[in-house]
Amino acid sequence: MTNRLYYHDSFLYAFDAEVRQTLENPRPALVLDRSAFYPTSGGQVHDIGTITIADSNQNLRVTEVRDTEDGRVVHYLEAPIKDVKPGTRVHGYIDPTRRRDHMQQHSGQHVLSAAFVHLFDMHTVSFHMADDYCSIDLDTPSLTKEQIEAAERMANEIILENRRVDIRFVTREEAGKMGLRKIPIADRDELRIIDIRDFDLSACGGTHVHQTGQIGCILLRKAERVRQGWRLEFVAGQRAVATARRDFTELTEAATMLSAHIYDVPQQVRKSLDEIRGLRKQADLSRDELATLQASAVLAETPEANGRKLIVRTFADRDLNSIKLLAQKLTRLASNAVALLATTSPQPSLVFAQSPGQPFDMGALMKQTVATLNGRGGGTRDMAQGGIPKAYGIEGALSSLAQHLSTPG
Ligand SMILES: [Zn+2]
Repeated sequence: MTNRLYYHDSFLYAFDAEVRQTLENPRPALVLDRSAFYPTSGGQVHDIGTITIADSNQNLRVTEVRDTEDGRVVHYLEAPIKDVKPGTRVHGYIDPTRRRDHMQQHSGQHVLSAAFVHLFDMHTVSFHMADDYCSIDLDTPSLTKEQIEAAERMANEIILENRRVDIRFVTREEAGKMGLRKIPIADRDELRIIDIRDFDLSACGGTHVHQTGQIGCILLRKAERVRQGWRLEFVAGQRAVATARRDFTELTEAATMLSAHIYDVPQQVRKSLDEIRGLRKQADLSRDELATLQASAVLAETPEANGRKLIVRTFADRDLNSIKLLAQKLTRLASNAVALLATTSPQPSLVFAQSPGQPFDMGALMKQTVATLNGRGGGTRDMAQGGIPKAYGIEGALSSLAQHLSTPG
């Protein structure tokens, strides 16, 4: 078993140790007799840092730390190890920025979880630490904005009071009498307790601050329903400052675009969305009117042949919807229209339509045509549409189809 130095001192960033075991597969790794490196567990993610070989000054980067079922701490290394045997003396160095960040998040979590218990008797059922935020799952059927704000306020008050945070080792029996917020289901008799003075007692193996003031602050973020209750995202310490900074930067950018104060951004966005909705409605109306006018003009200039008006047109820079609209107008304004329309961009597309009662099958013709152009499409007897990968060949396909349709019989 590795002697875990962080159990007693979370602020120990450098230590001496002896190699117990070297591993090569699947990745190079070292097991030491003692270590201050925290292995991923209990919701907290692992430390990173370096291990230096005392005699050779060989520097090994520790990229991941995990513990094994039999209590060893395994330090995974970036590169293979040279000439290191059991018994070799090493120095370990932990990345202090990352460790401090993890302490702020994890101690912050204890304070926050306890605040939810004190205020609303809501218990935390799980804790997750990601690279940029953390989350707890609360066992509760409902969670209001007011409750979130009250818990955030209480947690920050406990931080401002700068209460002591002590590590205590007790037996399971003693722990039972202490009124712990959380007792783990494990077979070990000795429990490690994190004691936030007169506020929270919970069994935990993580790294924690000495005083709540070192957490800095807690900022609650997203709340969402999950299967077990509610998931609440939060950030503590420097992460909270970084997150608030990022929010401010983004909001300022939005405010600048709207020429508004940042607090007026929602109101301005609402106003803009209303305007867009109004303009879209107007544009739809105009598009409809334009299509009607265009359809009338096209019908007027198209001569009748075999008792019907065959319209063949290829457009550029029109979307499928606009040529569809034109096809609808053509076949409604005239009772004998057959329209073979296409657009070459932005997306090469085809629309075939006929006035009700005309003898062709537009769906079948569309299928035949797109098949020759490597596209897909289909529709009903009177209206069909299709899409093709390239505009090349559209006009040829339409004119040979037109020829076929105008041949009597
Ligand atoms: Zn914990």
